[in-house]
Amino acid sequence: MRTIHHYVNGTSYEGTSGQTQDVFCPSTGKVQAQVVLANKGDVDHAIAEAAKAQPAWGNTNPQKRIRVLNRWLQLITENMDELARTLALEHGKTFPDAKGDIQRGLDVVEFALGAPHLLKGEYSTQVGTGIDTYSMRQPLGVVAGITPFNFPAMIPLWKAGPALAAGNAMVLKPSERDPSVPVRLAELFVEAGGPQGVLQVIHGGKEAVDAILDSDIIQAVGFVGSTPIAQYIYTRAAETNKRAQCFGGAKNHAIVLPDADIEATASAIVGAAFGSAGERCMALPVVVPVGQETADKLAASIAEKARALKVGHSLDPESDYGPLVTQDSLDRVNRIVSEGVEAGATLLVDGREWTFTDKTFDGESLAEGFYAGPTFFDNVTTDMDLYTVEIFGPVLAMVRANTLEEATALATNHEYGNGVAIFTQNGGAAREFARNVQVGMVGINVPIPVPIAYHTFGGWKASGFGDLNQHGPDSFRFYTKTKTVTQAWPQAEDAGPQFTMPLMN
Ligand code: NAD
Repeated sequence: MRTIHHYVNGTSYEGTSGQTQDVFCPSTGKVQAQVVLANKGDVDHAIAEAAKAQPAWGNTNPQKRIRVLNRWLQLITENMDELARTLALEHGKTFPDAKGDIQRGLDVVEFALGAPHLLKGEYSTQVGTGIDTYSMRQPLGVVAGITPFNFPAMIPLWKAGPALAAGNAMVLKPSERDPSVPVRLAELFVEAGGPQGVLQVIHGGKEAVDAILDSDIIQAVGFVGSTPIAQYIYTRAAETNKRAQCFGGAKNHAIVLPDADIEATASAIVGAAFGSAGERCMALPVVVPVGQETADKLAASIAEKARALKVGHSLDPESDYGPLVTQDSLDRVNRIVSEGVEAGATLLVDGREWTFTDKTFDGESLAEGFYAGPTFFDNVTTDMDLYTVEIFGPVLAMVRANTLEEATALATNHEYGNGVAIFTQNGGAAREFARNVQVGMVGINVPIPVPIAYHTFGGWKASGFGDLNQHGPDSFRFYTKTKTVTQAWPQAEDAGPQFTMPLMN
């Protein structure tokens, strides 16, 4: 059985805890590896070594740093197929979707290649007689990334790309459920010429995370995961004087106006609701048609398309989506579906009844895989768990609204505020919606509005804690501190000590 180790100082590190956890292949339900879990001593070791490596990296000319990142980008691209295959086999998303996971991460590394420009400070001359003021952005030191299972390449790259380009060292604590790709990314960083110790990968759960939070060396924590853990990390980071950006769960709404093209909209929603088995923070698990006629037509079209979906092995090119990540996730999804039926929602497509047409792929049995069929409910109400809870599975809930105002209020008043989409041909209505809705990322006829790397990504309300978003210019603000210098090169005679607040004139 393969063992997945930590990656410290450019080499595999076994750690001292003696603890391991199963890593499954969700497509077959079989254990495919063991991952070592760090104790506090292991984490402290990785952090201490990162602290030794960081000063030289931080003092390196930023152009030289980004040459390493550029080579890293090339190596990841050259190894894309191998990485995507590993990712698909540990996560369960399909091979093309796994490539998308990696590519959206690379987009941010590409953006981070602009570090020399992004790190430029400001300069004001003659702010007083013979006095100039300038600012510089300096690395924080050693920072941490704590990342979720559902994007095991993209989110580590969103963290590491800007943090490393800005001159920090990073201790990355990826999800213990799909840990291989983050290790491989760190290996490729060293292969690209990155100094050993600048990107460390430590596996583990709460004990490892607490060791990061308790460390005096760690200066900042970039977290992505579920809301309760995001809140925990945000609070603990503040207690231990670290800056933090913590992104949490989601329940994104798709609002459909009567003038939308029903077939195209239904296709977009089916892709966004069921793609990656619904395990995306930008998935669309709630659809809100405006008007009964829109709802009836949309419900019929979505149900037909959902029934036609092919669920299968993550490497099967026929699969529209693959299995859920664990048996626990599958049990939880099935329980929420059963409770939705009991609560009185109308079940139009029942994923629990879904069965394989062929129970093998490439000679392997799929019978024990963590598969959930597509589920679609109509007449869901706002008091049901189907509406309030982040299910993180292939379950779509339709909530009927009578007006755009009512639909907008649903998205605005929901606990989560990550993403939202509106489908319409009415530019004025879409513009007003985008201005008014209380959600961080808005799609207009775009079902999954993940902003491009040079804009920023971040949700509102219970979907994000902290004031700076991920990627885009915010990421460089997050991973640097500003120093402002006021300088004078006096040519006049010594005026003696001054005891009042200096006035710049
Ligand atoms: P999770 O919260 O279970 O785990 C995230 C990270 O926290 C992992 O590294 C995990 O090891 C660690 N962790 C887990 N339990 C912990 C504990 N008790 N104490 C300290 N650390 C702990 O999340 P997940 O299941 O891996 O990922 C899915 C979640 O992430 C969903 O809620 C999804 O919406 C969210 N997500 C959000 C975004 C976003 O940008 N807002 C993006 C992707 C995923």
